[in-house]
Formats: sequence, structure tokens, C-alpha cells
Amino acid sequence: MVLLHVGIDDTDSKKGMCTTYLTAVLLDKIESIGRIQIIGYPRLVRLNPNCPFKTRGNAALAFDAEVPEEMLDMLKNLVLDTVRQYADLKEKNTDPGVAFLANNIPRELNELYERALVEIISMDDAISLAKKLNIEIHRFGYGRGIIGAMAAIGCNFRKGYTYEFIAYRTKDNIGKPRGMDKESVVEMDRLTFPYTFDNIDYSTDEIRIMPHTPCPVYFGIRGTDPSQLNRAFQILRPLEPVERYRVYKTNQGTDAHIKEVRIADAKENMSVSIKGRVTGTPKIIAGGHVIFSIADDTGQIDCAAYEPTKDFRSIILNLSDGDIVEVYGGVKKKQKLPLTVNLEKIKVISVAKKMVKVAPSCPRCGRRMKSEGRNKGYQCPKCKFKDVYAMPSFIPKERRIQEGLYTVPPRARRHLSKPAQLYYLL
Ligand SMILES: [Zn+2]
Repeated sequence: MVLLHVGIDDTDSKKGMCTTYLTAVLLDKIESIGRIQIIGYPRLVRLNPNCPFKTRGNAALAFDAEVPEEMLDMLKNLVLDTVRQYADLKEKNTDPGVAFLANNIPRELNELYERALVEIISMDDAISLAKKLNIEIHRFGYGRGIIGAMAAIGCNFRKGYTYEFIAYRTKDNIGKPRGMDKESVVEMDRLTFPYTFDNIDYSTDEIRIMPHTPCPVYFGIRGTDPSQLNRAFQILRPLEPVERYRVYKTNQGTDAHIKEVRIADAKENMSVSIKGRVTGTPKIIAGGHVIFSIADDTGQIDCAAYEPTKDFRSIILNLSDGDIVEVYGGVKKKQKLPLTVNLEKIKVISVAKKMVKVAPSCPRCGRRMKSEGRNKGYQCPKCKFKDVYAMPSFIPKERRIQEGLYTVPPRARRHLSKPAQLYYLL
């Protein structure tokens, strides 16, 4: 018996195919043959969300199969034939790649995965690593997909994992609007909390389990426990047939892409967490985006909460000079603007104490006195008591933000970003 690791990436396009569907079809075929055992869950691996070549979510797939030696070639051909048959090869930006690796997964492949989360890997790097580690790679078109295919095999879930239950549509329904009993989604969300997440965006009442693209995915339920996902599926009342479904083990919702850095080390297209002190006051710019900046010993960087993050922006607007925060997000550079952290969430570590100047109270009646003008003292508006020497007093300003973790709503959340709900579970 040989343990074969299979990685597949970049078979999808904006128009329709989806690598998870291709994998689901392939796994069903393999299981129907018999004698080949799929080990564990197939893995749905999200990579650098800031990658400029990504199709949609930049996901790659991998699975492990225990194969009798004499069936090895047959299995590999089945994988390649399925990719040829289902990948959107006519699409200009679809460049599928397949990787096969037998037996152990070398540490260098884990490292490739770690790198693919935060940087853009070059084809040359991937090809030479494949040679070195004896990984069999197959390129279709330009074959950029080999990078994700190899990284998916190397995925070690170092920052934890979640699961996604994905149900697929029948062929004749693909491209049509997706039907779903909305009430059943609300019920499912309530009954499976906190073991499923991001089913509904309660800030806009939007059902989040169904994509809006013309792909074969009907819906996907994300969660931390496969048995809860199966239960969630039983609670849902779909309004169209489910062609097939699969549960994938995934790095979604784990912050696997986040690298803790100091400001000077933040580079474009990285996803980072940075601890710093808020400088100045957050402001709203054209388009409804909220911008502020933070500083640490190494420099200063802008942070932005964009319009689609909705209510998250009102939290950001309450930040003030001197607050200590940890920001999370992708580092972006637009034209001549400085580097900006595109916020996914923020941890408010400490809220700065602010004092406000107020008029003194009247010593006779307790009423707050009124200023008579600069250096002219105060007078009580009620009993008319006057004191030319009275001084203003300072009281703590009420801050409208508390220490804690704040995340963008599900509709604006990246696949890899860990929702607050999971901090207690993962
Ligand atoms: Zn008075």
C-alpha cells in the first residue's frame, strides 16, 4: 500500500467551476472503485488572500489516499482526467496544477504552505522544490496551480482548523438563483451555535451560507465539529435537490494568514497583526471609509475600516489618541498613498483616559457655574454667586469604547479571518 497525497489548485474561474466541486466528484469516483481508502477529510486550504492572481477565495484542495501499489497509476490518471474534464481550461486565468507525493510530507513542504499564506511564491521556486522533494507535478495551461497544489499537501493546520460542509447543485440548476427556506437557516444557526459560524450576517439579515456566483456550490456551512455540521444539514430545508456533499477540513477562520510584525516590517500584500498606539483622531473620508494611524517604536502606519465593514466603522471612530490596540488585516498600497492595513479586526488593549475641562460647581447651591470670559472667573446662573478666582475643573471623559476584540461583520470577513466566536473554541 502507498499513501498518496494529492493536491489540486486553480481549476476554477469566475464563470463557473470550483475546485471543491471537482474534488468532490473525484472523491466520489474513487470511493466507488473500492480498494482505495480516502484517509481523513479532504482539505480545503485557503492561501494568501492578498494574492493578485487569485480567482475567488484562493483555495486549494488536497486529500490522502491509501492505494494498492498496482492501482497507483490508475488513480493518478483518474485525477488528471477529472481535472481535464472539469477544469475551466478555456478560461484565460485558469491554470490548473496537480501534485502527487507518496508517503511522508517533508518539513520543507510545510514551510511552503506557511510561505504561501503570507507571500507570493514564484513558479521557479515551486518547480525546483518539487524536483528536490520528488513531487510529481502536472501543469495545465501555465500551471500556476502547482503552487497551491503543493502548498495544500503541505498544510499542517499549525494555527488550528475548522470544517466546512459543502453541498452542490444539480447541473440544470447551476446559474439559477439559489432557493433556501430562510427560517430554517435561522433555526440552524440558533441550534448549532457556537459550533457553526457566519451562517447569517445579523447586521444586514443576510443569509451567508450561499454564494452568489454561477458555480456548482449550493451552500456551505462552516463549523468546528463535523457531527454538528451534519446536524446543521438535517435542520436546513433546501428548496432544490442536493447533488452531492462533502465535509472538508479547512484552515478557514483560524487566522493562519496573520503574521505578527512591527510596523517597519509590514510589507505590501502581507496579512499582519501589529500592536501600536493610536495617533490622532480617526476620520471619515470620501466613500464612507474610516482611517486612522497607529505607531510603534519602528514607525507609523495607516489603518482603514472600509465602507463594507458597516457598523465596525463606528467602533473605530470611537478610538482616540493614546489608545493601545492590536490591528489585524492585509497590508495594501494604493497608488501614491502610504501602506495601509485593511482592517479585519481590532483588539482594543487599553483605552486611554481622557480629561475634559468643565466649569466649577457653585459652592452655595451646587449648580454648575458659567464662565464670565477669559480670566474673568465664574458666576452661578441660579443664585448669581460670583467668584473671579474660580478655576475650571477636569473630569474623566466618558469613552465610548471598551477593551475587547472587535471584528468586521461576516459579509466583510475574509475566509481565513478568525471570528470572535471561535476564540473560545479553537
Ligand atoms: Zn449658586
